[in-house]
Order: sequence, then structure tokens, then C-alpha cells
Amino acid sequence: MGNAQQTAIQVNNYIGGRWVASESGEIIQRENPANTSEIVAVVTNATKEETIQAVESAHEAFQTWSKVPAVKRAEKIYNVIDVLERRRQEVAELLTREMGKPIKEAHGEITKAINEARYSAGEALRLTGETLPSERAGIHVRTIRVPKGVIAAISPWNFPLVTPLRKIVPALAAGNTVVFKPATVTAAMGAKIIELFEEAGLPAGVLNLIVGSGRSVGNTLVSHPLVKGVTFTGSTAVGSGIYKLAAERLIEVQLEMGGKNAGIIYDYPDVNGAVDQILAAAFAASGQRCTSISRIVVQRSRVEEVTRALTEKLAQYVIGDGMSDKVNMGPLVSQDQLDTVEQYVRIGLEEGAVLAAGGKRPSGVNGGYYYEPTVFTNAAPDMRIAREEIFGPVLVVIPVDSFDEAVQVANNSEYGLAVSCFTHHMPYAEQAVEEIETGMIHINNGTISESHVPFGGLKHSAVGPYSIGSTGKDFLTALKVVYSSS
Ligand code: NAD
Repeated sequence: MGNAQQTAIQVNNYIGGRWVASESGEIIQRENPANTSEIVAVVTNATKEETIQAVESAHEAFQTWSKVPAVKRAEKIYNVIDVLERRRQEVAELLTREMGKPIKEAHGEITKAINEARYSAGEALRLTGETLPSERAGIHVRTIRVPKGVIAAISPWNFPLVTPLRKIVPALAAGNTVVFKPATVTAAMGAKIIELFEEAGLPAGVLNLIVGSGRSVGNTLVSHPLVKGVTFTGSTAVGSGIYKLAAERLIEVQLEMGGKNAGIIYDYPDVNGAVDQILAAAFAASGQRCTSISRIVVQRSRVEEVTRALTEKLAQYVIGDGMSDKVNMGPLVSQDQLDTVEQYVRIGLEEGAVLAAGGKRPSGVNGGYYYEPTVFTNAAPDMRIAREEIFGPVLVVIPVDSFDEAVQVANNSEYGLAVSCFTHHMPYAEQAVEEIETGMIHINNGTISESHVPFGGLKHSAVGPYSIGSTGKDFLTALKVVYSSS
């Protein structure tokens, strides 16, 4: 893979420690979403045979990597962190050119990736078991954790650095080997990740890259008998298909999927402060975050105040190419994503919601997949825009008449990922913690997750042990019970 910043990057597979040009001849050009006339990457789809080779290579490397002492595995990861620190600016620029998020957010993503990787490298040394008393004299009982083997890591495009690293680093730290498949629209960042590990001296075969369509490459990966676990982040529809395939082979999955996250404002005097935090959670990455707040559930008497604060603050937003420091919101990632947002805005209008801000492409900002940050008010909880994941810069304000109703509305979704609840009334805060069906709940703050804390969801947002934090190892290792007599 070449790494010139302004020329198109050729993205190949990386198998057994070598860059391998695919024989498929199926080429996909990836454009800069902020300036679609610029080609950022040229990706060649992997063939089925190449995908199988990647799994076999990871399987072979597992025989030695799993026996490398944990402290040495951790050292390799600390090396990767050093390389990433050193190449931070180059990585941030690629992130913005390929995915579209503002450069400030790209740097934020890198910082998060580094913090998570530091924590996860340390997990290698925390793969502890326990000793138990025995019923029998002379018998010693203990548990140990062993790595599983080859892990398939399949990631989406919205956090093209932090999400893959959140899968790859803990898997390697635990002694597994990995075949990584990034989303095609951010395949160049996938290849950049491999470069970082290569420079850090990771042995051949321990981490492999396969690029290409989810349907062919992804299915081959998930179905391969040598793959012992699948960690996937992406849509609920694709995750559910992966779950079925994995179930046929009785292997475990870690699925992190969609969200329709609510931000409740109820009995909270500082509406302005709550709106600031909700805006940051709603429109970062142009609303293309699984933890984006996409519904504000607010007591009816404060709807006008909330809407005014939202529209006044959004009027200050600068939309444009994220390479500029002045830009608050970059483009959407692709034409498909732009089409989806436009379609949902039409649906919202047909359903009778009232457009308070946005609802169109911005004037005077051309050449990319730009869309204005959009707010609907007077939305009813059963409208499609209030229940379905849009994955774009669309925020829906839903008035309610009691806190019980706010909880009901927050739960009126197939998803259960992250919820923010702004209230100064302690019993409401406790009710929210207890009754809202969500993996992560934030009281009086936005939906920001931390680097050493388990990350995951309920309902159709997730299946399997939460990633990172203390729970990731439950997916990445098998527990063995040892009975021994002296
Ligand atoms: P997607 O489901 O279309 O694709 C995700 C990945 O799966 C890509 O690499 C894709 O190529 C691959 N894939 C597609 N079909 C496959 C198949 N049949 N078998 C195996 N792999 C396959 O999702 P996307 O559009 O890239 O990302 C957006 C979605 O991701 C949103 O729904 C969002 O909520 C979700 N997401 C969730 C989290 C989370 O942590 N819960 C984080 C980020 C994004």
C-alpha cells in the first residue's frame, strides 16, 4: 500500500505478513466524501480463496503467538501505540479524507484508540483464573483462561480506527490471532492499521487483512471452521445474519449494532447546558455514531425553550470539509448515507413532524455529501423518525407529560444502546437507571464512553460480552477448569 497523502492509496490484502494484490480484478474506487472528485483509495476485493488463506495463516500463527508470554504480547501493543503516536498527524488526515469527520474529531478518535489500547495491552496481564476449594482431599481445583484461536474482526466505517483497534488489540493481548475485515469505504484506514502493527514488529500471520464486500468476504470468514469467534460492529440486519451463521457452527459472537438513543430533559433547570451536551452527542461524526443521541424526550412545558436553544446553536455550525479547523460538521460518509437521510426527512414531513432546523443540503457548500444538521419537533413516539435508526444528522424532539411517559418513550425502540437523562430530581434519575432498557446510561451528561469501561448494549443493539473493560476477555478466552491431585 502506498501512503502519499494526495494520491490514491492502493489497498491490498495482507496475508501471512505480506501485502498481496487480489486476483479478483474487482476494483472499487473510494472518493473523498468532502470532495467527491478526489479518489482517496483504490480497493481490490479479496477472493474467497484469499480469505481462506488469511484464516489459515492466522491459524498457523496462533500455534506460536498463543505461547508468547503475555508480557511480550503486551510489549508489541505498546510498540504499536508508540508508532501511532509518532504517525498521528498522517493517520488523522487520512481519517478525515476517507471518512469525512472533522480533523479535531479524528484526533479525538486517535486519542481514544491509544487510551483503549493501553488498557487492553494491560489486560494481557490480567487474564487471571481462580482457585477453589475441593470436596475431596488431595484435589486442587482452579480455573485458567486460554485464547480461543482465530478471531474474525469485522468493522464499520464510522470509527475506522478505534473500532477495529477495540477488536484487534484485546484479541491479540489475549493470545488470539486475527483476520480483520474493514468496511470497504474505509479500507485505506484498515490498511493503515496493518502498517502500524507491521512497523511495531508484530510477527507474520498474527494479524491479517482482507478487504472486500461483506456478503462474499464476510460470509466466507464467518463460516470458516478455523474461525473460533466473530467480533462484529455494524447494522443490526447484518449482525443478525452473522449470529445465525455462527450459531450453526456453535461459535461465540460479540455483536455491537444499531441504536436510537434518547436524551431525556425533565426537571432540569439548565436547559442550555443539557442542549450543549446533547448537540455534541447528536452531531459529532455528522450523527453517524452508534451512540448518537437522535431523540430528545422533553417535558412539554420546556419544548419551546429546548427548540430555541437547539436552533440558535445550530445556526452557528460551520459545515464543510473537515480538514479545516473551523468546521463543526463534515459531510456524510457516502451517497447511500445521504440518500437515507433525505428519505427519512421526507418520511418525517409526511408523518407530520415539524422541521425546526435543517432538512436540506446546505447552500454554498458543494462537491461533497453535505447535509444540514436537522431538527424535527412535535414528533410522536410512534413515528418512524422517532423509532428507526437514521444514522445521520437528524434529531427528533418528542414532548411528554410525565416522567413515566419519558421512560416509556425512551424504551419505545428495538434498540438499547445508550441513553442520557438530564434531571435534578433524584428519584427520576434512579427510575431512569432502573427502568430504561439500555446498555449504558448517562445521568446529567452526554453519551460519551470511557476507555477502560465495558461498552455494549441491550435488545437489538448487542449480543455477547461487552467489549473492552473487564468484560472483553469473556469473549476472547475460553475458561478451563483444572482438577489436579498431588
Ligand atoms: P454494516 O452492517 O453495513 O457493515 C458493517 C461491516 O459488516 C462492514 O465491514 C461490512 O462490509 C460487513 N458486512 C456486511 N455484510 C456482511 C455479511 N453478510 N457478513 C459479514 N460481514 C458483512 O454497517 P455500516 O453501514 O458499515 O455501519 C453502520 C451501522 O453500524 C449502524 O447501524 C450503526 O449503529 C452500527 N454501529 C454500531 C456500533 C456499536 O458499537 N454498537 C458502533 C458503530 C456503528
